[in-house]
Amino acid sequence: MVRNRFAPSPTGNVHVGSLRTALYNYLFAKKMEGVFLLRLEDTDQTRFEDGAVENLLNALNITGVIPDEGLIKTGDEVVQKGDVGPYIQSQRLDIYQKHLKTLLDNGQAYYCFCTKERLEEVREAQKAAGETPKYDGHCRELSPDEVQTKIKAGIPYVIRLKLPENHVIRFEDGVRGTIEMNTNDLDDQVLLKTDGFPTYHLAVVIDDHLMGITHVIRGEEWLPSTPKHVYLYQCFGWEAPQFVHLSNILNADHKKLSKRQGDVSVGDFLAKGYLPGALVNYLALLGWSPEDEQEIFSMDELIQAFDLSRVNKSGAVFDRSKLNWMNAHY
Ligand code: GLU
Ligand code: ZN
Repeated sequence: MVRNRFAPSPTGNVHVGSLRTALYNYLFAKKMEGVFLLRLEDTDQTRFEDGAVENLLNALNITGVIPDEGLIKTGDEVVQKGDVGPYIQSQRLDIYQKHLKTLLDNGQAYYCFCTKERLEEVREAQKAAGETPKYDGHCRELSPDEVQTKIKAGIPYVIRLKLPENHVIRFEDGVRGTIEMNTNDLDDQVLLKTDGFPTYHLAVVIDDHLMGITHVIRGEEWLPSTPKHVYLYQCFGWEAPQFVHLSNILNADHKKLSKRQGDVSVGDFLAKGYLPGALVNYLALLGWSPEDEQEIFSMDELIQAFDLSRVNKSGAVFDRSKLNWMNAHY
């Protein structure tokens, strides 16, 4: 059975690109009679903003992109939908710690005690030499005794993924086909931060596995990270889900859609009186082409027509006049 998810980091307003990602997951899950869940990725404590979760649930609620599992809003109340969950990463720290221990025990991860200053120096030197900056592996071969001594001395540390050298990681992307990456071009990713919180990369892999996710449909900004995720699946001995990376929504100048050129948050559009259904209809067609020329769709019609294999590979330009047209005809 298809199980997919929308996994936003609740950091403020909901960008229309995020809503589109949620919508594609929702449409695909409904079409396949699967489960669509909501997971809050709030492990970056520095980015957290008050009211962000509220905003998010409002945006999903009003546009009808309702999760089958995870938090939902009914009226003014926030409730848990489904038997398990809610899926909130900051409440799952012991789960990440436990799995990280497996990686450490297997020698697939290591403690790194490098200071910010040292990392900065290395980066500057690499840049000056015309190299792409990456961690130089300084702490890779510390002995268990050295590690224990440093931990006892209270030296702050992170835990990094120990990538093998010159190893090709390969996976199939649902939109982009075969993707290959050599580990020599990848950094030993930080998995656990000095504050004891996991990074997105560790948490996303563990959670997608434990939540039985079969399809990861997300923005293309995560494509470069996916080889590391695929490698992590291998380390844990887990089967990786099918990955589908959606192309960005673009401004008229073909740069990523940003606030400078007008509204981009769901809340702003709704506050200006755009119909939620029209916004959903517009976003559905922004990056996906139905088989025929139909332009106005109800949510049920979108579910019927949605086809992941017809998601476009190239970025779609956000056309405000088209949205206005749709809003007038919806
Ligand atoms: N928390 C990530 C974001 O907000 C989720 C990326 C993913 O879907 O894996 O973009
Ligand atoms: Zn180090």
